[in-house]
Amino acid sequence: MKNVLITGASRGIGAACARIFSENGFRVFINYFKSADRAEQLCSELREKGADAFTFCADVSDCEQVEKMMSEISSRFGGVDILINNAGIAAQIMFCDISEQDWDRMFDINIKGMYLCTQKALPYMINKKSGSIVNLSSMWGISGASCEVHYSAAKAAVIGFTKALAKELGPSGIRVNCVAPGAVATEMNAALSDEDIAALCDETPLGKIAAPDEIAKAIYYMAVTDTFSTGQILSPNGGLVI
Ligand code: NDP
Repeated sequence: MKNVLITGASRGIGAACARIFSENGFRVFINYFKSADRAEQLCSELREKGADAFTFCADVSDCEQVEKMMSEISSRFGGVDILINNAGIAAQIMFCDISEQDWDRMFDINIKGMYLCTQKALPYMINKKSGSIVNLSSMWGISGASCEVHYSAAKAAVIGFTKALAKELGPSGIRVNCVAPGAVATEMNAALSDEDIAALCDETPLGKIAAPDEIAKAIYYMAVTDTFSTGQILSPNGGLVI
């Protein structure tokens, strides 16, 4: 049985990934930070369906917590075959109002967390000469979003991280890809009004925002199905950014 670690899997896109991987026979490690109850609830739901699922609390931006999570996974289960670097935060704020603390937090969770989790997961993958990593960017990391400069910049960094690491790890049999979604119906967009969502749908050729499981399918495809792709950016965005 192959092991998949999904960071930020207590809700939203990460939880949808946990469901799709467990339905496909993977042992699923659900990482969460603050939403312990929801992570445990998801874990029970998957176990009731006969899946192998486990929860791990760690702030992905904290080196010690990531090390502790990875060493527990490694001693109990060997390691991680597939890593989905999904944990992230977003914020809408005018550029001139972004504080240094806002800036650092955005980069700490969205990109430093990716560096920490990936680096700690790699020794097992390198040893096996196989592995697959999918990093969550955003269509705003490709095109840039007004009032989301720090988010757009951090998500653009995810794309650079993915491409460079893919070149470095290809010879070790490890693929590194990126999924850069458009707007998705999760709590990340809870601050958007009904009018904002309607405007977004109007602008989108497919006329809607995505359900989390539509993005989870793209992530699963890059992680498992598409075995000849590495360093690629797949952007399921309904045609908003082409
Ligand atoms: P949600 O806000 O619904 O969920 C975010 C998840 O990240 C939660 O499980 C949360 O865990 C976790 N998380 C946040 N901070 C940390 C941390 N420090 N350590 C560990 N986990 C953390 O977001 P989405 O599901 O919508 O987003 C998932 C990813 O997809 C993000 O990277 C996001 O940027 C990206 N994305 C989302 C889009 C959207 O429209 N929703 C569009 C494009 C990209 P907990 O609650 O337990 O703290």
